[in-house]
Amino acid sequence: MTMGSWGFYAHKMINRAAVFTLPADMASFYKQHIDYISDHAVDPDKKRYADPEEAHKHFIDLDRYGESPLDSLPERWTNAIRRYPEDTLKANGTVPWQIYSSYWNLVDAFKSKNSLRILKTSTALGHYIADAHSPLHTTQNYNGGLSDQEGIHAFWESRLPELYAKGYSFFVGGAQYIDKPLQRAWQIVGHTYSLVDSVLLIEAQLNRKFAQNRKYVFERRNKLIIRTYSKTYSKAYHKALNGMVEKQMRASVILIGSFWYTAWVDAGQPNLQQLSGTAFIPDSSAHPLHTQSRPTGVSGGAPHQRLHHYAPKPYKKPFRLYSHGTMLWDDHRHAFHPDNYPHPLSARHEPGYSFS
Ligand SMILES: [Zn+2]
Repeated sequence: MTMGSWGFYAHKMINRAAVFTLPADMASFYKQHIDYISDHAVDPDKKRYADPEEAHKHFIDLDRYGESPLDSLPERWTNAIRRYPEDTLKANGTVPWQIYSSYWNLVDAFKSKNSLRILKTSTALGHYIADAHSPLHTTQNYNGGLSDQEGIHAFWESRLPELYAKGYSFFVGGAQYIDKPLQRAWQIVGHTYSLVDSVLLIEAQLNRKFAQNRKYVFERRNKLIIRTYSKTYSKAYHKALNGMVEKQMRASVILIGSFWYTAWVDAGQPNLQQLSGTAFIPDSSAHPLHTQSRPTGVSGGAPHQRLHHYAPKPYKKPFRLYSHGTMLWDDHRHAFHPDNYPHPLSARHEPGYSFS
């Protein structure tokens, strides 16, 4: 099943903080482009609108593989597809293998000495590593639907960071070389998975103590009224989680820095002061609607300044997105068309609640 991921806010914050873990030889290049690395941190989520092959890269439902999934799942993709049909593996999510493949993409990007490639692959790798640290990215009960806790996905990874991450510390020390990147990716999801029970049980306990009208509030966002978890309820959940969100964000930061560093070392430590394409033109994915569109024509201007015209491409495959504890739309009931929404991740009121 597909799912959202750390909100825009958390992803951007995590990628940005990871830059500060890098050794001097890498730091000046990454700091020079820190806005790109932060602003594009959610590109892989946007890509899911246009690319059906994207969604499975963001999660792995480990509980679909029995009692001890890490024992039954082969570490390597080539062995995994011998044991399970490829479409089953993809349906259950592929994030650890994706981290490994993005790491190799980054090694190649460093070898190419092309700054835009390095930035794009670093940014995407950061996204997948952060997703692998979010507990509800490792379970089929990814949004609490199996335990009557719908909305918990974005509650944990968007609402809480947006309310509290400003107070977190992202001083996590320097990036470390990772000997076995694939094994490390599996360790990450294994640990993240061990947190799933707490994420769900703590919220379930809290839910029993709160009346519904204290649990939820209605907020106006982008001209729409959405239902979200109240600050009182959020505070109580955050407190009961005992630092878990901060720990997972911090772990994401150091791991992202370490994977970037490892890829750079494994590419032979290229000099990042001497790259081609440093003055790159920002790519079209800077605009959220462009990622779900395909170019239909090219206007005039110098070749390097050509503007693409985009026509919205309605999304065909079912998928889900969440924002602030509210389901943006239900893939079984609502067809998504980008024309209808100013921003693909903008909140949309829940069916059944109308305030206009
Ligand atoms: Zn994601």
